[in-house]
Amino acid sequence: MPDPTPWIVVNGNLGNAFCCMRCGESYEPRYPARFEIVDAIGKAFSNVHARCAAHPEGDACPYCMGRHAAEACPQSPERKPGEDAYAYLARQRNLRDVVGPNPMRGG
Ligand SMILES: [Zn+2]
Ligand SMILES: [Zn+2]
Repeated sequence: MPDPTPWIVVNGNLGNAFCCMRCGESYEPRYPARFEIVDAIGKAFSNVHARCAAHPEGDACPYCMGRHAAEACPQSPERKPGEDAYAYLARQRNLRDVVGPNPMRGG
């Protein structure tokens, strides 16, 4: 049976918070927590977000739950400290594929 809600995840980038990648909401249990508690929170979170619609701008960023590509995230562990998002993207791939033309530099 295919996973009916693949957009609801436990996100290790955010302290193992429950995250809805569609609407960008997250809930971080207080750890350590009993498994039963975490399980109950997860089920409740899943029920709330089971019918979230896909966002026109795509899924939330897995590093900060912001609305941008993961590759453009200031929180990305692969991005060097202080590195400009576009410089970072240029290292990763064709940045226009990810975030469009650079508004600061006229493309
Ligand atoms: Zn949601
Ligand atoms: Zn981000």
